[in-house]
Amino acid sequence: MDKKLATKLTNLGRNPAENAGAVNTGIIRTSTIIFPTVADLEASERDEYRHGSYGRHGTPTVHALSDTIREIEGADHTLLTSSGVSAITTALMSAVKTGDHLLVADCVYGPTRAFCDFELKRLGVETTYFDPAIGTGIAELIRPNTRVVFLEAPGSLTFEMQDIPAIAEIAHKHNIIVMGDNTWATPLYMKPFELGMDVSIHSATKYISGHSDLLMGVMSTTKAYYPTLLNTHKRMGACTNPEDCYLALRGIRTILPRLEIQQKSALEIAEWFLSRKEVAEVRHPALPGSLGHEIWKRDFTGGAALFAVTLKPEYSKAKVDDLLNGLELFAMGYSWGGYESLILPIKLGGLRSASAWPHKGITLRIHIGLEDVNDLKADLAAGLNRLA
Ligand SMILES: *Cc1c(COP(=O)(O)O)cnc(C)c1O
Repeated sequence: MDKKLATKLTNLGRNPAENAGAVNTGIIRTSTIIFPTVADLEASERDEYRHGSYGRHGTPTVHALSDTIREIEGADHTLLTSSGVSAITTALMSAVKTGDHLLVADCVYGPTRAFCDFELKRLGVETTYFDPAIGTGIAELIRPNTRVVFLEAPGSLTFEMQDIPAIAEIAHKHNIIVMGDNTWATPLYMKPFELGMDVSIHSATKYISGHSDLLMGVMSTTKAYYPTLLNTHKRMGACTNPEDCYLALRGIRTILPRLEIQQKSALEIAEWFLSRKEVAEVRHPALPGSLGHEIWKRDFTGGAALFAVTLKPEYSKAKVDDLLNGLELFAMGYSWGGYESLILPIKLGGLRSASAWPHKGITLRIHIGLEDVNDLKADLAAGLNRLA
């Protein structure tokens, strides 16, 4: 039977018959896996022993989660790491050597940019940032030593989409690896390998865990790129742990209903912001009329409850501080993807170099949680009224 997404999310990654009848795969902690015979030990060296080889390479709890994400995302292989950032840095390290060149979307996550600007630069790898709207114009930036194009669609601060299929097609003509930080879309709402990516990266800290209580990264990839990625993953020691995998598996069971509610509330609130006189721009790729909406509609089927609202320039920092300080339901804090609503004034200083930011007013990044949507709106409305 070709099972639907909700069924897969309920059933993948668990096997009661092999787990003392338990509904959930248990937390199996171990450093050492015992081999009863030399033949078993030797099988493990070929990655063929049924219980694996060593704790760092994953126990059944870890594999239950990676298998689930692999199936949902349509990847050939999925590897887990200690954080979203470690997935990004491990994936990049797997592809580059001294003298190589990277093309990176100007809207990527700050620590991705910092890794390129510090560690990779120090190792003699040069990065060129490009305007996320570049499309086929990427061809002009490709050099003989370009090894990777790194995308983040949409960027998690400025919500700029990229034309992934157009960029990937050109990159592949030059044997360039295409990587993408797909945290916003989650493994549910885009098909990275159909769009032409070779490595799809997620911060599982966000919706996969869904409860703001762990850090984890995901790297999914193709059959062709897997051996390279696996070797670097092993050599970097970038592993996660069974406790967090248990929690993330518990989180992913409910990712679909959580996101259905959170997306709906986010779109309703994004649309409501458009009707407010204090607002200069709302950026939410799933919102008709928003920047990037046409690409989103073509390539994605949903996404995060995370968007940006830019206020008109006449509202001073002191006024916006009043707006934020008085909120009852929206907490200020980094991260997103949990069940709770969050808000942050965003600062782009040092995070852009290839394309200009069009606004003078303050931009707020908003994450919509599972609270009642009318309560959230009332809190935000009271906040906007404090600007007057
Ligand atoms: C949070 C985030 C990361 C980093 O993930 P951590 O698990 O916090 O290391 C990477 N990319 C995006 C888009 C994120 O939002």
